[in-house]
Amino acid sequence: MLRLYDTIHGEVRDLATRDPGKLSMYVCGPTVYDLPHLGHGRFTLVWDVARRWFSFRGLDVRYVSNITDIDDNIINRAQREGTTESQVASTYENEWWEAMSRIGVARPRDVPHATQYVADMVSLIESFLAEDVAYVISDGVYFDTSCVADYGLLAGQPLDSLRADPTIEASQEKRSPFDFALWKFSKPNEPVWSASFGDGRPGWHTECVVMSLGLLGDGFDLHCGGLDLKFPHHENERAQAQAARRPFAQHWGHNGWVMVGTEKMSKSLGNFTSLTDLLERTDARAYRLLVIRSHYRSPIEVSPATVADAERALARLDTLARRFELPTFGGEQFVTQNDYVFSGRAKDLVTSVGVLLDEDLNTPLAVGELFDAVSSANTLADEGEPVEAAQLALAVAVVFGALGLAVHSAVHEPTRDDQALVSARDDARSAQNWAEADRLRDELVSRGWIVEDSAGGTRIRRG
Ligand SMILES: [Zn+2]
Repeated sequence: MLRLYDTIHGEVRDLATRDPGKLSMYVCGPTVYDLPHLGHGRFTLVWDVARRWFSFRGLDVRYVSNITDIDDNIINRAQREGTTESQVASTYENEWWEAMSRIGVARPRDVPHATQYVADMVSLIESFLAEDVAYVISDGVYFDTSCVADYGLLAGQPLDSLRADPTIEASQEKRSPFDFALWKFSKPNEPVWSASFGDGRPGWHTECVVMSLGLLGDGFDLHCGGLDLKFPHHENERAQAQAARRPFAQHWGHNGWVMVGTEKMSKSLGNFTSLTDLLERTDARAYRLLVIRSHYRSPIEVSPATVADAERALARLDTLARRFELPTFGGEQFVTQNDYVFSGRAKDLVTSVGVLLDEDLNTPLAVGELFDAVSSANTLADEGEPVEAAQLALAVAVVFGALGLAVHSAVHEPTRDDQALVSARDDARSAQNWAEADRLRDELVSRGWIVEDSAGGTRIRRG
């Protein structure tokens, strides 16, 4: 049985599913107004690993993750840059998917965009107003949190201790400081949707409850996100579902912070570091390895030292992959436990690592066992046991593949010639010599590279 910590109950519990063999999972996605930061990289990696492990164990996982494509930050950026909100959203959504594909996060099964669900949000808000669960003040429609008897459950601490939370909007007109905007009336030059209660745009908490219930249905299995979303975002989603009398997520999962040094990684504290920056300087797989070497609920520290340490560990895996010519997994490809049949030590490894991962995704202990197996496989091969060694090495690659970490048996470093082509292409693009840029792209492709354009210039990678 798969077991996972549940935030509401404060303990590791069986991950029971509504429909046998199927898991419905909603992960709060990004608001697309800037480059993804390290915290985004972590939550997507954590839940991608979970999704892959649940799939490895045979569950059919319906993984839904949204894109918030309208909010204050998007509006502010569009106004600052003299462009449109949809242009800002589409630019940064593209950056998002590019970063996701570089870190090997599989595409969600569904990607609802907030702006496509506004009509459903308007209906929900109308029903709240009709039942007096919501009220109108000068700048929008607010949810009355006093109507939900157990409001604050997900916070896991007394509401009084949360009053100073800076994320809670202050307004003299609100009935309670915890009441939150379901709908914001439009100001001049802002995107607007019409509604019976006043034209405007939806609030963030309303988007997620409408999209998760809309796609996954009542009582879906698992709702996930970073710890920073637990309160108020997730609690406010839950409160709306309660008020609408719709059974909501049965299990809540939250992942820990990214620390840079000893500070919490958070844009509001000003220590923004983009995921894109990190990926320019390291093999993206190193970040996944760094993430899974810690438990998903613990904070992780991302620093030159921890990244370098992960790179060294990754090099050991790739050395193993070259020695035993191991297959590469990952990307959009999911491995399942029925794909391979092991015996002997390899079978024991898959069994014991499986026990660890089934119990609240204990990736640090699992990774430790996998690296012990790397040593054992090398020793067995050195001592003249090539068949057992190869089986064990394959099991290591399969389990890492089940966690989305591909081992590489070929060297994929760009040569000096490849790098010269990349620079020449960037020069051609700055000179707006598109024909030459295309020719150089084709040459890189013929050398086996995938060529991507980014804000920082041409990027190449192996598929
Ligand atoms: Zn959300």
